[in-house]
Amino acid sequence: MFRENVVPNQQFTDHLTGRILTNYQLILERIASAAQSIGRKPDQVRLMVVTKGHPLEAVQAVVAAGARLLGENYVDEALVKMQALSSYPGIEWHMIGHVQSRKAELVSQNFSCVHSVDSLKLANRLNRYTSGGNHRLPVLLECNVSGEESKFGWDAWDERQWNALTKEIAPILDLPGLEVLGLMTMPPFFLNPEEARPYFQKLRRLQMYLKERFSTFSWEELSMGMSGDFEVAIQEGATIVRVGTAILGERSG
Ligand SMILES: *Cc1c(COP(=O)(O)O)cnc(C)c1O
Repeated sequence: MFRENVVPNQQFTDHLTGRILTNYQLILERIASAAQSIGRKPDQVRLMVVTKGHPLEAVQAVVAAGARLLGENYVDEALVKMQALSSYPGIEWHMIGHVQSRKAELVSQNFSCVHSVDSLKLANRLNRYTSGGNHRLPVLLECNVSGEESKFGWDAWDERQWNALTKEIAPILDLPGLEVLGLMTMPPFFLNPEEARPYFQKLRRLQMYLKERFSTFSWEELSMGMSGDFEVAIQEGATIVRVGTAILGERSG
């Protein structure tokens, strides 16, 4: 999956770099148009480049193209890349994959935000490794708004259960080492991105609901939208879109 031992030839690298630069700029333009299509400012949406499953050369190419917000799903894979890119200033690494509790310490020490907080147990673990210092770890709560069983996240598909959900997540808001900034979701995969729209709308409604219930928190971040549907997500209020394939190409493995 992650070919750290492969040294590509120069021609391959140049080609890869050019293609990634073109894709990266194109996606930035599409983000700006999607924002403008509903009267949002392009700078209200951040582009995260999802680098999981891509080799280091691809990550370097997208950083050279200007990307500074990178998303990874697996801690071990991410650590190798972080190490290799540690001399580039200003790169922000966000964790977007399911985190096993035993990896919580590594995650809290190496990522600047975790989008995939999906249980109180994980929140407690992350909190344990961040509190004590004056650092608070920004996190998002991953919500399953589709009811798909294969998806991680807080069960949030049934709006009648949102009251119960608030009771489950309330303890997380009190953790001194975490700073809850908003919500993340991954809708089911559709060939037609319009079909994802109701799920983005539901996450937005949940955001409003939580804002009302817990009004001292801003809930401002909505991490939603991937290669196939980020424009729809932006129209529905995404503040961070997570794009991999459309910039870096297909993942190997
Ligand atoms: C892989 C992944 C993405 C990126 O998906 P693409 O379709 O390649 O853009 C976004 N979010 C999460 C949580 C992912 O696991």
